[in-house]
Amino acid sequence: MAQIACIGEVMIELAAAEAGPQGGERKALSYAGDTYNTVVTLARLGTPTAYVTRLGDDHYSDAIIDRLAQESIDTNCIVRHEGKVPGLYMIHNSPDGEREFFYWRDRAPARQLFHIEGELSALAEQLDNTEMLYLSGITLAIIGDSGRQNLIKFLQTYKARGGKVAFDSNYRPRLWESPQQAQQANRDLLALTDLALLTLDDEELLWGTDGDAVAEVKARYRDCDIGQIVLKRGAEDVIILQGDSEERVDVPKVTDVVDTTAAGDTFNAGYLAAHLAGKTATEAAAQANRCAGIIIRHRGGVIDKQLFLDELAT
Ligand code: ADP
Repeated sequence: MAQIACIGEVMIELAAAEAGPQGGERKALSYAGDTYNTVVTLARLGTPTAYVTRLGDDHYSDAIIDRLAQESIDTNCIVRHEGKVPGLYMIHNSPDGEREFFYWRDRAPARQLFHIEGELSALAEQLDNTEMLYLSGITLAIIGDSGRQNLIKFLQTYKARGGKVAFDSNYRPRLWESPQQAQQANRDLLALTDLALLTLDDEELLWGTDGDAVAEVKARYRDCDIGQIVLKRGAEDVIILQGDSEERVDVPKVTDVVDTTAAGDTFNAGYLAAHLAGKTATEAAAQANRCAGIIIRHRGGVIDKQLFLDELAT
């Protein structure tokens, strides 16, 4: 039985493998997505997990399910949509070292999460004994207005039965019609959140700031009744807000940063695994920093499992 279910979209990723002939690009295929990165790391940390998404009935959807199963992630909540294929994105490395992302995800089956009545009731039953649900602002964005309305009702019922909700706002402006739409959706979700894993940069991007962004976060969510708000701030110490208390946890120095993709997602996995194991917020943040510190020293959002576990053990 999964202790936590992560809900969102996993995509096919095409990233640079090597330079191709005549300036062409050779791409390597893998799978990624914010909640997927988190669920894989959570499973590697030993937390019983399930992944909730919608996929197609094609070869790549099969391969994604195989990957999840290899990581011991429960895939029983994944719905297969006949005739569909997963979303895809490609990373282009420009000669000046910048990375540009191109997406083909508008018709991905994950967009229909929380849209279909029969699927919702089945999911409620499957997740009835799951302690916590985790989702992100990307999950919220892709399911659209009607998906969000159904999601809110779903979470209200889930919480009334004793379940807990964790949320990372992961703000991606181009997935939203307007910042106002994203603000409203975030507020609605945070009003149901027990553990908020926010990135200060995203908060500033979504809401703007007059200078003291941390004080603004506190004021913004005062009436949301969030048990713990964890503020990620890159290399700067993590801030944990619980009621009126504010605690800061040092981020160990990482001198050889290679790629910060999925730093926040991996941090969340480290935090959630410790939280679910009954650890204090300070202990959870320390484990989260260790996990994120590993991922940023390697290329990609999910690294080789053994490499991750070996580095965690050192
Ligand atoms: P996101 O990936 O969501 O933008 P952050 O950039 O705030 O999130 O990073 C998330 C976490 O990753 C940080 O809280 C920290 O643990 C770790 N991290 C990120 N950048 C660095 C860095 N330069 N040095 C050490 N740790 C880092």
